[in-house]
Amino acid sequence: LRATGEQKPKRDIVVWDNSGPERSLHIPITLWGDRATAEYATDVPVIVRGVRVREWNGSKSLSTNGNSVVSFEVPPDLQADAQDLVRSWAASGQPAAPARGGGDGKRVTIEELHAENVNLGHAPEPGQPLDGNGPAAAHRHTVVATITSVITERPPYYPACSQQVDDGRGKTRSCNKKLTDEGGEWRCMSGHCCQQPSYRYLLRARVSDHTGLLEISSFDEVGKKMFGCDADELAALWEDEGRSEELQRKLKRPNWQRCVLTVRSVREVWQDEERVKTSANDMRDEEWKKEARRRLNDIYATFGAPEGAVGSPVAGGA
Ligand SMILES: [Zn+2]
Ligand SMILES: [Zn+2]
Repeated sequence: LRATGEQKPKRDIVVWDNSGPERSLHIPITLWGDRATAEYATDVPVIVRGVRVREWNGSKSLSTNGNSVVSFEVPPDLQADAQDLVRSWAASGQPAAPARGGGDGKRVTIEELHAENVNLGHAPEPGQPLDGNGPAAAHRHTVVATITSVITERPPYYPACSQQVDDGRGKTRSCNKKLTDEGGEWRCMSGHCCQQPSYRYLLRARVSDHTGLLEISSFDEVGKKMFGCDADELAALWEDEGRSEELQRKLKRPNWQRCVLTVRSVREVWQDEERVKTSANDMRDEEWKKEARRRLNDIYATFGAPEGAVGSPVAGGA
């Protein structure tokens, strides 16, 4: 806001270059004033100078001020670099900017989660400019819920490629792509082959709280916490007919676990229908003392605390 109280025009644009481990990085730039209302072409090189780096919730963005330069006139000494950049932008298929996050990880009930997800935007089409003022295309929330079941019509795991690949930061990581059995040899989409797959969790589960139901997808880390073992162990049970009782017990282990889930919701198209997909990236035990203190404070806030209770409603600390 200006001193006059008049709203200063503001607009986010997203720029891209071929730096970073993936040779592809996007960053939003916030433009103010006349710059915000100007016309901008897409898919052309832009010179940006004298901008401020901001970091919020772990993601970086740039912001212009009076001394910043945002120019489409490429000086002669940068012409060659600009042409390289345009070529590599086209060659990499004009990758879409990652979904802008919303929700900020705040704690919600399942009913509130569904209500907020009604407003989820669509992920930008590749090559299309990102609408910085549009609705967020991804929401991040925390829910406290009880697992009611893991869907086990199919194995809740997949055979993963264990080939070590460059992680782009000078180290290696497992490829983890799905392996297909090609008659005694397992091969992934990248053409690696393995004698013996290692399994990783990839599962769907139903969770609930007092306000509603939610279906979540989860990956290896959350799967390990739910089942209390790694996916190799579960796969060994699944494939051994002689151990089906043990398997049934194991498959029920996640049920009725109460946990704190960090979830991320996006829109996706599945079998020609659009739906919201929610994945749990983290699962941890509920912190009972903290939770009890929080609830008690809610009660005190509503009805007033009994004398002497203020400040230490629950003994034992957080
Ligand atoms: Zn692989
Ligand atoms: Zn081979």
